[in-house]
Amino acid sequence: MNDFSFNILQKCEFGMGALKKLPDILKACGSDNVMLISDRGLEAIGGGSPMDVAKAAGIVAKFGGSITDYEGGGKIPGDIDPLIAIPTTAGTGSEVTVFTVITDESRNYKLTAFGPQISPKYAVLDPELIMTAPPSIAAACGIDAFIHAMEAYINTAATPFTDAMGEKAMELIGKYIRRFVANRQDKEAACAMMAASTFAGVAFAFARLGNIHAMSHPVSAYFHVAHGVANAVLMPTILEYNALADHGRYAKIYEYVTGVKADECFEPLDLVDAIRELNNDIGIPACLADVGVTEDKIPVMAIDAMKSGNVLVNPRATTLKDIEMLYKKAMYV
Ligand SMILES: [Zn+2]
Repeated sequence: MNDFSFNILQKCEFGMGALKKLPDILKACGSDNVMLISDRGLEAIGGGSPMDVAKAAGIVAKFGGSITDYEGGGKIPGDIDPLIAIPTTAGTGSEVTVFTVITDESRNYKLTAFGPQISPKYAVLDPELIMTAPPSIAAACGIDAFIHAMEAYINTAATPFTDAMGEKAMELIGKYIRRFVANRQDKEAACAMMAASTFAGVAFAFARLGNIHAMSHPVSAYFHVAHGVANAVLMPTILEYNALADHGRYAKIYEYVTGVKADECFEPLDLVDAIRELNNDIGIPACLADVGVTEDKIPVMAIDAMKSGNVLVNPRATTLKDIEMLYKKAMYV
């Protein structure tokens, strides 16, 4: 068992209509001047990208320079101004993490800067805000949250604390993601997805992720594939690769995804089949070729994937050649 300590860095307010608490939260922050960061259409005040941009803007506004100056860990000199994260997707979990992921278009690279200094001070988790998302966003963000929980659960840095967060997240998402994609007005499903994506965020904030996220970032950077879709398309191939390192966790994940007890005949590859079925049900493309990825970029994507710290905690040890092989395998069904 890995040693662990934890300290959740923000106050989280969860509930239908929780957004109404915003004036009180602003008062508690003691600030008269507020900067609002959203996407262009004000549709996703706190989707993953606006929250990450807010963290990056917080660093540059306070300490100057460019976000590239702070790439990696341990480079942020102090706390940014108080950040209130209001997720409108379920979700990236960015409201409870110390990471910001920003695309550096000059090198087609998704850089990460991290440290407790950029952690949001408050997270307002209002399921009402995710109930107008189109089904494709609900599917891509929901499966991304599931992958956060799953990668944190099977990797080599998992602890009993992150297991607890990850297991509950997978249980809720496994049970509700199909319902939520089918009908975002389903209140019970929306509440479950909102809570689960935050739990998954807490899990990976402490345990990090694995090869799926390491390999999806270059796919998104080179081919502009939505983050959750890139992860979901890669998931079956990487789960198959990681099956050799399974120490009984695949059976548990299988139960969360299918709602069916894994009996003594269960094989880790049964989970891969169940994941392909889930992807298909919620409209995720089957392979990288289907989302526009071309083989010529595999060598450069593999080099970029290996720069991710997530490879180091992947359950099965991974080399550059392994990453190239996995990209090739995920190209076609
Ligand atoms: Zn993700």
